[in-house]
Formats: sequence, C-alpha cells, structure tokens
Amino acid sequence: MMFCGEAKDKDDQNVKPQKHVLCIGMACVDFVNIVKEFPLEDSDQRIQDYYWQRGGNASNNCTVLSLLSIPCEFMGVLGTEGVEASWILKDFESFNINTEHCVKKDVHCPVGTIILNMTNGTRTILFFPRDRPEMLYKDFQLKFKNDFSAYSWIHFELCSNVLEISKMIDDVLCYKNSNGQPVVSIEIEKPEFHNYNLVINKADLVFVSKDYAKSKGFANAKEAVSGLYNLCKEGAILVCAWGEQGASLCINNEVLTCPALQNIKVVDTLGAGDTFVAGFVGSLLSQRFYPTEPEHTTKIITKLEYALNYACHLAGHKCSMYGYTGLK
Ligand code: ADP
Repeated sequence: MMFCGEAKDKDDQNVKPQKHVLCIGMACVDFVNIVKEFPLEDSDQRIQDYYWQRGGNASNNCTVLSLLSIPCEFMGVLGTEGVEASWILKDFESFNINTEHCVKKDVHCPVGTIILNMTNGTRTILFFPRDRPEMLYKDFQLKFKNDFSAYSWIHFELCSNVLEISKMIDDVLCYKNSNGQPVVSIEIEKPEFHNYNLVINKADLVFVSKDYAKSKGFANAKEAVSGLYNLCKEGAILVCAWGEQGASLCINNEVLTCPALQNIKVVDTLGAGDTFVAGFVGSLLSQRFYPTEPEHTTKIITKLEYALNYACHLAGHKCSMYGYTGLK
C-alpha cells in the first residue's frame, strides 16, 4: 500500500528539492472518548479509553500525506494561547509537516470533542470553533508574494472564508506553470457555509462530502458527482466519498465508482474523509498525473480509477485502526 512521493530524477546532477503539497485550512485539538455504546442523554458512565490528537481537515490531510512519505506543508492560523497551541506545533513537527507559512495570532485553537463508538466506529463530533482562526487573503498574499514554485499541489479546505479562499485560488491560477502546477483542489464539506459557487468552478479537482451532497438532495455519491459536475470548470475532476458505500468521481461527464474496503472491523471513522482526500491526491502525485495536463483520455481514466481505489482502500484501512499512525 505504501508509495513514495514524486521520484527524484537520477539523471539530474543537481537533484531539485521535491515540491510540496500545501494544505490550507484549520488545525484543532480533538479530544477522543471511546465508548462501548453511544451514551444516553443525562447518563453517567465510564468510558473505555481517551486520548487527544491533532485534528482539522487540512491538518489531517498533511498527517496522512506525511505518513505516505509525500513532502507536505500545513498553512493556517495557529493560535498562540493555551497549552494546546505549543502542543499542536510540536505535533506537526513530529510528523515532519512544515508550518513555516502559518499565521500566528493571539487566539485559542478550535477544539473537537469526539464520541467514538467502538462497536461500529461511528464518530460523533462536538466542534467548538472558539476564536475562529480562519485564513485571510491578505495574510496569504504577504506570505507567498505570488511565488508558488515550491508546490506541486495546493489544497484548500473551505470554511466560512470562501471569499478569501477564492482570491487565494486566483493568485495560484495566475501563477500556474506550463505543466499545470500547482494543481488546485478544494474540499467542500460543510453544508452550513455558502458561496461555494465562487470557487467550485475554479478548482482542478473538487472533493464534496456526503453531508454536503445530502444537503443538495443527492442520495448517493454517483448521483452527487453527476448532478454537481456542471458547476465545475471544463475538464475538472469532481469526487465524492460516501462512507461504507465507497466513492465516485466524474470527469468530462464520465462517472467512475469504487466500493469501500470490505471485511474490516470498523473501529474509528474519525478522519476517514481526510484520509481519503490525502490518499487520492497522493496517488495522483505518485503516478505523476497533474489534472488539466493534456493527456490521452483512456490514460487519465486508468490513473483516476487507480487513485479512487487507492483512496478507498487507504481510508477503509484507517477505519480499522485508532488514529493514523498505523497507516505507516
Ligand atoms: P467523512 O470522514 O468525511 O465523513 P466518509 O464517511 O465519506 O468521510 O468516508 C470516506 C471514505 O472512507 C469512504 O469513501 C470509504 O472509502 C472509507 N470509509 C468510511 N467509512 C467506512 C466503513 N464503515 N467501511 C469501510 N470504509 C469506510
């Protein structure tokens, strides 16, 4: 299952540093409570286990990419208040995730309290955004000054700051080199935020969650990618993961579907979607496939099929273990 990031060119005398995948979004601390059965309201009971881990979609994407040996960087607002602040930074370091462009602010990080049901692996998330540390375009511009040469791929997790992200994407699209790098992908996860129309037609690759798809009236991943594809730009790839049903994608109105990994004991689905996204991106990078690069269609479909299978396999494997470190 393991693979490395882009292979270095052995013939190149001055081997260039590998380009990074930059994931922009949020980092938080997740307090995970493992229970035998979901608690009754107003009950009092002992739980089976407890731990805390770094969370947030973009932050989790980086964790998985790093475990797949793909050089990556997290960018977001990192709070400096509270003990969690320094712990988050140290944890990024321990996973070898670069955080050099993060914006430091005197705020507290968001926190998630998770109830993980060990019987079926469901995760119930109680999320508190606290000081809502979201990235602003002016910070992004100041940090990069329109130079994205260090990145093969830039992935954006969308929160309520869609307008800000839209301007960031414009800068990256202006910069793109002749190989189509950096690739721009976005993840639309939360139905409660709006204005996604500002960005959905800009990205090379769009991930939509089942929660978002359900909010738009779709009953499964296949229907979601077919129904939403007209919102994407020409030639873009639209992907939707759907828990134990697997995932589907659409490119040029052609739909591919992959079932979820079977015959596993599901214990922890927290971050399954983030693992899926990282697995999909990682697979395309390892196959040296950059969306929007002109390639023969059958070759593209083969690479996408492989990536979809790989992502479902990796995410399913993650569901069969607690946390991420077992993915190593
Ligand atoms: P999210 O964490 O965003 O809710 P999903 O539930 O859609 O993510 O799951 C993402 C992927 O993880 C799925 O496409 C599937 O491959 C895998 N997955 C999730 N739940 C299960 C499960 N119960 N059994 C097997 N694979 C699963």
